[in-house]
Amino acid sequence: MTTNTRELPDGVKSATVLAQGNGRCSPQTGEYPPPISVGVTYARDSGYALRDGKAYTRDQGSAGLEHVERLLALVERGTDALVLSSGLAASTAVFQALAPGSRVIVQEVQYFGLTKWLREFGADQGLRVVTVPNGNLDSMRAAVTAEPTALVWIETPANPTWVVTDVAAVAEIADGAGAVLAVDNTVPTPIHTNPLALGAHLVMHSCTKYLNGHDDVMAGALITDGSKPELWRRLMLQRQLAGQVLGGLDAYLLLRGMKTLSARMRVISPSALAIAEHFDDHPDIERVAYPGLAGDAGHKIAAAQMTGGYSGMLALLVRGGLRVSLDVARQTELFIPATSLGGTASLIEHRYTFEGAGSRTPENLLRLSIGLEDPGDLIADIEGAIARARSRG
Ligand SMILES: *Cc1c(COP(=O)(O)O)cnc(C)c1O
Repeated sequence: MTTNTRELPDGVKSATVLAQGNGRCSPQTGEYPPPISVGVTYARDSGYALRDGKAYTRDQGSAGLEHVERLLALVERGTDALVLSSGLAASTAVFQALAPGSRVIVQEVQYFGLTKWLREFGADQGLRVVTVPNGNLDSMRAAVTAEPTALVWIETPANPTWVVTDVAAVAEIADGAGAVLAVDNTVPTPIHTNPLALGAHLVMHSCTKYLNGHDDVMAGALITDGSKPELWRRLMLQRQLAGQVLGGLDAYLLLRGMKTLSARMRVISPSALAIAEHFDDHPDIERVAYPGLAGDAGHKIAAAQMTGGYSGMLALLVRGGLRVSLDVARQTELFIPATSLGGTASLIEHRYTFEGAGSRTPENLLRLSIGLEDPGDLIADIEGAIARARSRG
């Protein structure tokens, strides 16, 4: 609240807002960036009153959290944002804020951690969870209109098969039924998609991924369009009383990471497209899943709702099934064989192994998170790994 002495002019682009970290400096000294705020408690004044309305960071947040929240709200075209301790903390807070008995609609393919949470705790929370196939508007419409629905949760492109959903079309369906539409916008990032501008009510991010961008912070965020004030009140109360708050040092690192988001996406997204194009029609690859490819099933919708690129996530479905695909993941020299995504270093993951029991991911799917390396080096690395995996026969 009070650290912020300067607002950027209206209408400036996200790249500008991000580069300047929302341009805020210390009101006392002008120091830019403003000091890192780590305090968890606040001394009262001599009249025993709170000086700035804050008593405790879990309850009212902190200047550091508010700084990054304001930046998130600006780049997602929202009215307010809430930073939490991980992406899943942000996702599950939304489901936990609903009244018992609420009917919620999710997609078959989505971040597997959320699917697992809904399977384990959804019914205990009194939620009636309905699952629809991704990218099928007729099924979505039928599900939403069948019975009163509290929440529609979508992810596009959906991890890890990168199926595309038309956000504006689902927003129209949800609005018509009085349901809240929440969109996991982790992969497109606000650089390539602003779901609130397409009619969604709530955006969720795993800030662990592209927003922080350096594999060294776990954080999540929710951003509201301001149209569901009661839900937003309950979400703020969720963080306050269930306590999924982010520490001050991590909030600072997240802000610092976000300053380069636009520059990173300008390198990552074209690089991912070049790699996807290289492996499209490759003799050792059955299919490449990447919405930027002209032949991808979701390309038309993606081209209409994503701006400036298709982000850095793709999947290679390798010929030769589980054995060969696992071998490729074990044979790369540049791609790091690790989970997560959205950092500076490229990662390769045999997703079925990571998801384990209950996974519906194809056994020959390799998930690639493209980083900032030279795309030619990355292509050569996968080609080499394929050759070594094949030669093991
Ligand atoms: C990683 C991820 C999440 C979960 O975020 P965490 O920060 O790991 O809790 C949710 N959705 C998507 C699309 C993700 O990639």
